[in-house]
Amino acid sequence: MRTIAALLGHLELVTRPVHPESREALDRRWSGLPERVKTPAQLLGRAAVGCEGTHGIFPKCNLTCTPCYHSADANKVRIDGGHTVTAVKEQLAFLRRLRGPRGHAQLIGGEVSLLPAEDHAAALRAMRAAGREPMSMTHGDFDYDYLLDVALDRTGKARFGRVSFAGHFDSLMRGRRGVPRPRTEAELNPFRERFAAMFTALRKDHGVTSYLAHNMTVTPANIDQVAGVTAAVLNMPFDMLSFQPAAYIGDDRRWGKAYSDVSIDAVWDRIEAGAGQHIPWQGAQFGDPRCNRSAVVLRAGETMAPLLDPADPEDVAARERLLAHFGGMYFGGTPRWVVAAKVTRALLAHPREIPVVLGFGFRLAKRAGGLRRVVSAARAGRLSFRTFVVHNFMNAADVAPAWELMGKGITSEDPKTREVQERLGACMYTMSHPDTGHLVPACVQHSVLDPAENAGLRKLLPLTPKVRTEQ
Ligand code: SF4
Repeated sequence: MRTIAALLGHLELVTRPVHPESREALDRRWSGLPERVKTPAQLLGRAAVGCEGTHGIFPKCNLTCTPCYHSADANKVRIDGGHTVTAVKEQLAFLRRLRGPRGHAQLIGGEVSLLPAEDHAAALRAMRAAGREPMSMTHGDFDYDYLLDVALDRTGKARFGRVSFAGHFDSLMRGRRGVPRPRTEAELNPFRERFAAMFTALRKDHGVTSYLAHNMTVTPANIDQVAGVTAAVLNMPFDMLSFQPAAYIGDDRRWGKAYSDVSIDAVWDRIEAGAGQHIPWQGAQFGDPRCNRSAVVLRAGETMAPLLDPADPEDVAARERLLAHFGGMYFGGTPRWVVAAKVTRALLAHPREIPVVLGFGFRLAKRAGGLRRVVSAARAGRLSFRTFVVHNFMNAADVAPAWELMGKGITSEDPKTREVQERLGACMYTMSHPDTGHLVPACVQHSVLDPAENAGLRKLLPLTPKVRTEQ
C-alpha cells in the first residue's frame, strides 16, 4: 500500500508542470535580481535561472587566440580526465542543489576535444545525471572519429540520443589545422561547414541528433565581417549564432587594441545586416541588457520571423500571461509521456490560456509568411528555429573592484563600478564553487578567480608528473 502511495506521489511530482524545486530556485533568483532588471521582458526568475558553466576542469588549449580569456598558467596544467570528471560531478551537484532539477550547462575550460573521448563522454553523462543539458565548448578543430568516440560506446552503440556542441570560429584564432593564420572570416567558412557536417553525418549514420552553436569573438579587427559571417552561418546547420565582443580578461599577453570600441549594439546591427532584416531582441531578456541580447526566429524557407514581436501588443500580453502561468516548465531531457502529462495538467489548470497559445502560434505563422508556407517549409525540411545572441563580457579591471565591494555588501558610489555591480547581480552565466559554497558570475571567475585556481591546478596537475625517487 505504501509502495503504491509512494509511486503515485512520484508520478504526481514528475508530471507537475513546474517542479517545486524549480519554483523555489526561480523565486530566489527573482528576489535577488537588481530592481532595474525586473522588467516585464525579464526571463530570469520567471522562466529560467540562467546558464551554467564548468571551470578549472581542463584549462589547456592547443590554439592561440587574441584575446584569450584563460589565465597565463592555463596551458601549464595537464589534461587529466579523472580530475575533470570528479570536478564536474562536484560542481554540477552543487548547481543541482541550489538551482533546481533542470538547467543548461556548458562543459567549458580550455579545449574540450583535448580530453580523451571516454572522459569527455563521462563528463557529459555526469552533467545529464545532475539534470543539466550539457554543451561542449570547442574550437571545432577535431576529426569525425573523435566525435564518434564521444557519442558512441566501444560497441558502436549511441551513448546519447542528442549532443550539443558550440564551435568557436573566428579570424583571431591561430593554429587551426588547414588555416593556421586566417586573414579573413570568409576563409574559415569551409571549416565552419566541415564542423557542422560532422554532426549531420552523426545523425545520418547513427541517429544521434545535435544542437549546434557557432561562437565568434568580435574586435575592431573583425566587426565589419560580422554581417558576412551571419549570412554564411545562417545557411549552415547551426541552431545558434552567438557573438562575444572582446573584453580585457585572462592572459594579458594576448590582448589587442580598442576592444571597448565594439559595443553590443554595434554587433547586433551587423547581425541584422547579415540576416537582411530587423531582429527585435527587446521582447525577452536574460539578465542585464548591457550583458546580453538574444532573439529566437522561426525560419520557414527564406523567411525569418521573430518568435516574439515586442511591437505587437498581443504578443506582449501573451508573454505576460504565459510567463505567469507556465514560466518554469521544462521539457528537455524529459520522456515524451511526462511532457504530454505536464502540458495536459498545465492546460487543465489554466484552460483560458489555450486560445492565448493558439493566437501566439497563429501570429508567428503569419509573420513567417502564413500557415501554408510554414507547412510546406516543414514538409521540405526547411523549417527551423535560429537563436541570435550577443554576450558582452566585462573587463577584469572593472570586475575585480566591483566584486570586492559586493563581497563586503557595499554598493559603490562610483557610477561605473555600480553599473558593473548591477550587471554582476543580474548575471545569467554562473559558475559553481562547492568548496566555498558560492555561485559566481563567469566574469568574476575569469577576472578574479582563474589566476589563483590555475596556479593551484598547475601544482596539482603538472605537465610532467613528478617521479618519486627511492631513498
Ligand atoms: S558573465 Fe559577465 S557579461 Fe555575462 S551575464 Fe554574467 S556579468 Fe554579465
